[in-house]
Amino acid sequence: MLRDLKERLAAGASAEEMVSSLFEKIKRSQLNAYSNLSEDLALEEARKFDLAPCSGLLAGIPIAIKSSISTRGIETNCSSRILSGYIPPYDAHVIERLKEEGAIIIGKTNMDEFAMGSSTETSCFGPTRNPWDLDRVPGGSSGGSAAAVAAGEAPCALGSDTGGSIRCPASFCGIVGLKPTYGLVSRYGLVSYANSLEQIGPLALNVDDAALVLDVIAGQDLRDSTSVKSEGGYLAGLEGGVEGIVCGVPKEYFGEGVDPLVEKSVWEAISKLEELGASWKMVSLPYTKYALAAYYIIAMSEASSNLARFDGLRYGLRLGPDKDWHSTFSEIRAAGFGPEVKRRILIGTYALSAGYYGRYYLKALKARTLIKEDFERALSAGGADVLVTPTMPFPAFKIGERVEDPLSLYMADVFTVPINLAGVPAISLSCGFARGLPIGLQIIGRHFDEKVVLRTAKAYEDATPYHETVPKEVV
Ligand code: GLN
Repeated sequence: MLRDLKERLAAGASAEEMVSSLFEKIKRSQLNAYSNLSEDLALEEARKFDLAPCSGLLAGIPIAIKSSISTRGIETNCSSRILSGYIPPYDAHVIERLKEEGAIIIGKTNMDEFAMGSSTETSCFGPTRNPWDLDRVPGGSSGGSAAAVAAGEAPCALGSDTGGSIRCPASFCGIVGLKPTYGLVSRYGLVSYANSLEQIGPLALNVDDAALVLDVIAGQDLRDSTSVKSEGGYLAGLEGGVEGIVCGVPKEYFGEGVDPLVEKSVWEAISKLEELGASWKMVSLPYTKYALAAYYIIAMSEASSNLARFDGLRYGLRLGPDKDWHSTFSEIRAAGFGPEVKRRILIGTYALSAGYYGRYYLKALKARTLIKEDFERALSAGGADVLVTPTMPFPAFKIGERVEDPLSLYMADVFTVPINLAGVPAISLSCGFARGLPIGLQIIGRHFDEKVVLRTAKAYEDATPYHETVPKEVV
């Protein structure tokens, strides 16, 4: 897909026409995938490109950006009232990289408020709709990015994944989403929700495109001290197939609570990988049962600290004349944050408070270590090279079906959060349909072993038709 676009541009197609037709499509759309567009800037960049085409891995390619990633001069509000009107004075590292390679930013995508959710329903702009069924959620929290890519409202997009926020919407929208190893991509300029868990990554129509975007955004940046050098070459390393690859199938990721049609498609995918030359064996990740509890305690604790910076004084929402600091702070936070964000700040503050810290936060950190060791054991030398699981236990659910019941929404993340706790890379790609809705296959790898994850995904994609099936025109 991106290769075709690049070829068309190289053959003289107009970037301006390409970008304007995207804007027309977005404006006609019912999906609500974008919170704000950067039409003037994008058209200006496209015109510049047409006059003097630049080289670069993404030269002239339009891209959509999740609203939690800072873009200089373009509103970045995390779909929260408290950041309404906030225009960052600087670019995130990944945005600098995209611009260096010639990409054109077309707008910011809708998301769960501050990335807290799995359905894009907690956005202050209202839910994004799933292009496969407008009554259903697109997944979250990067639901706007995924819906835009699936519906052809952007050729590719960036999202962020703290506990599944790239893979869940990729799964629900039938596209490819990659959460890189913790540290592969700089978080400089990503609005922090739970910074020990999250990574920025690509959402794309196929594995090649995800690998190409990863080539651009991966690498060390001294402004994020957890980022490391990347060896690059993700697109170049895609070929080679799965001959000799050992797939581990964790027994804890099947059974109770998993839609039988999802299980069936994932098993068919495993057979397909076997046909292509891989082998598979059952493995066990015994601490999986503690992952959701550990994740939500850690994520909420970090959120309660990270969101303290939104005091209403430095950026975003203002509410008339200022009073004393305490009242201004409380009133702006009361009006600016939605109910899910408030719930998490309260629970996180509680889990960190004196007397409860040891019982909740510390215990969750210990569970996290055990979960990480589960993955290291299953993926050790002589063990599996990758793990293959469903991304989500079920396909996209109806808008409104779970949002009133936070626990049932949290439970949907059961197969994605362990990966963030362990810090390993994982991709989601389409492996079939249940009742007309896409099903996601998750392929998990060793730390910094994105190449093997991507190569396995590519071999599977090349042998199956699912990535070519697109939702019917939804505008
Ligand atoms: N659904 C998870 C949560 O609400 C993950 C969100 C994310 O990855 N940002 O925390």
